[in-house]
Amino acid sequence: MEKYDIVIIGAGPVGLTLSTCLQRWGYRIKHIDNRAEPTPTGRADGIQPRSLDLLRNMDLKRKIMAHDPAKVYEVAFWDPNSKGGIHRTGTWASCPKFIDARYPFTTLLHQGLIERVFIEDIEKHGGQIQRPWTISGFKNDGQDPNYPVEVSLVHVDGTMSEVVRAKYLFSGEGARSFVRDQLGVKIHHKDPISHVWGVMDGVVRTDFPDIKMKCTIHSDSGSIMVIPRENNMVRLYIQIASSTDPDFNPRKTATAEEVQQHAKEILKPYTITWDRVEWYSVYPIGQGIAERYTLDERVFMGGDVCHTHSPKAGQGMNTAFLDAVNLAWKVHHVESGFSPRNILSTYESERKKVAENLLDFDAKYAKLFSSRLPSAGEVAGASNNEPEENEFVKTFKASCEFTSGYGVAYKPNLINWSNEHPAQHPLFLAFQRGTNLRTGRYFIPSTVTRVVDANVVHLEQEIPLNGSYRFYLFAGNPAKTRNAVRDLATYMAASNSFYSVFSFKDIQKDRYHERHNPTTSFVTLTTIFNSPRAKVSIRGMLPDLLARYRDHVYADDVWDQRVPNANAAAHAKMGLDEEEGGVVVVRPDGYVGCVVKLQEGQGTSEALNKYFSVITGKKLGEERAAL
Ligand SMILES: Cc1cc2nc3c(=O)[nH]c(=O)nc-3n(C[C@H](O)[C@H](O)[C@H](O)COP(=O)(O)OP(=O)(O)OC[C@H]3O[C@@H](n4cnc5c(N)ncnc54)[C@H](O)[C@@H]3O)c2cc1C
Repeated sequence: MEKYDIVIIGAGPVGLTLSTCLQRWGYRIKHIDNRAEPTPTGRADGIQPRSLDLLRNMDLKRKIMAHDPAKVYEVAFWDPNSKGGIHRTGTWASCPKFIDARYPFTTLLHQGLIERVFIEDIEKHGGQIQRPWTISGFKNDGQDPNYPVEVSLVHVDGTMSEVVRAKYLFSGEGARSFVRDQLGVKIHHKDPISHVWGVMDGVVRTDFPDIKMKCTIHSDSGSIMVIPRENNMVRLYIQIASSTDPDFNPRKTATAEEVQQHAKEILKPYTITWDRVEWYSVYPIGQGIAERYTLDERVFMGGDVCHTHSPKAGQGMNTAFLDAVNLAWKVHHVESGFSPRNILSTYESERKKVAENLLDFDAKYAKLFSSRLPSAGEVAGASNNEPEENEFVKTFKASCEFTSGYGVAYKPNLINWSNEHPAQHPLFLAFQRGTNLRTGRYFIPSTVTRVVDANVVHLEQEIPLNGSYRFYLFAGNPAKTRNAVRDLATYMAASNSFYSVFSFKDIQKDRYHERHNPTTSFVTLTTIFNSPRAKVSIRGMLPDLLARYRDHVYADDVWDQRVPNANAAAHAKMGLDEEEGGVVVVRPDGYVGCVVKLQEGQGTSEALNKYFSVITGKKLGEERAAL
């Protein structure tokens, strides 16, 4: 019987992201989908700023951008006016300046093109999606302790079948999931109402001035959302109906022509006609969340299997990407012997909380979107003054951090250090106590100069999504931190440190050209000096252990408008002392794990060893280093 590290069911965004990560990291994968072809067109389309960071980190962003997607920088709000038409009441940045984002826009491209970018990458790394195949059964019978899950697969026409064994099974089947049903995992519906949306992608002719903007339009005839698309297209979302009746058949409620007629009414006095309709769908959405994402930490689920919500905030695909990356690195660390299995429990606790927040937000947003707003004529005095900001606009503004993806905040647990973490040491720093970084939140972006080639680079992107922890030694002023840096490297070199314990056994192998993982795949090391680039000498200023990562040595000498008075902007943005520095450990998926003060002696490495002891389940750093 064939054996695989993981069997992945479903090649939508969640399954493809998981497959891409694990394929790159060398796992043996069986990946199937029951459709003969990838999504041809339509469906989800919005890539949020945070997801674009992730795609860049996976070196997939340029392939997405090669499709020339539409980019939404601003959202326009239109409301009824006193003459029975509509008027623009304001515009607002899609990702406002208070969010420190590299890409402050939403990228619009249909799901099929996005899926293809992942599929090409999987194929490039030797994988494939087997189509059209489906799953007919599975059991975690433990008969083979290394491959405890048996999975039965069948061609959709029933002509072929196979039974395989795997370490893990992952369901990324979308809203209707065989695996979830078999496990008996229930979906909790936060809101018993099913909202039904008409979605239409096409090329239009119109005199509506904001057709190239994202717009939410309320009129006396209903509400509509306009989203610009690639290839001169525009997407219209129209809420058609809501029902609590389980037998309600939405497809009977609206044809494409009816939706077009509805759009014409809403947009009056502007006109709109269609040159071409590329995709039309009636998209019923019940808000739901799975009560569990796994029962045994062998069979996992993610994406729409676990959470469904309305399309308005454009979160479905983005949440799916992040579910997958969260699980991918944890499976990788267990299978690499870096972590005990208990780390896998944090997948559900972290990602379910994000989904709950998303559903709360979505319910609030959906209710506002569906409610009919008073026309300007109905609001006393509004015709002479600037219109009052309505609840919809207020909610939108308040939610930008969330919708851009930067609001994700994982709670303290064994990976995200806090005062309650089992690893305690006086040198741990916490938010507003020595650092601006918050554990469980994204690593603040900063721009620095790479020393070896004088390129100005985005520090947070310098380590690719390679499955390793990211270790940022903010080395402060080298004249002051020389001893602290030397001591840290010395203690890290001790055989039982978090760094050495996972170093490659075949250390003699020639890894001269390996930039990110020359000595271990557990962690990638970087050093950032508060110094002009020309004054940094890698060999002269860094012990061998850190100098080996020569491509990851940076000068913090680039001015940043967010900290205009800082000498060392990256240090300042992190809230670290510009002279004394500090150490930041970032999880493989880009969220901050812990922050430690940099100090002479053994303290810094002691704190780090304690932190990693909890995550890895190993007693680290107890042996005395040979100084
Ligand atoms: C018709 C439709 C329209 C949508 N429109 C929008 C929209 O306008 N805006 C928006 O934001 N979101 C939309 N969505 C939701 C969006 O597509 C999802 O949120 C997003 O794709 C989640 O990704 P996923 O990988 O979890 O699931 P999906 O993208 O649903 O992928 C699941 C994959 O699994 C496959 N599969 C399912 N069951 C099996 C099985 N038993 N065996 C093998 N393969 C299986 C499917 O063929 C599919 O390829 C739409 C979804 C659908 C179904």
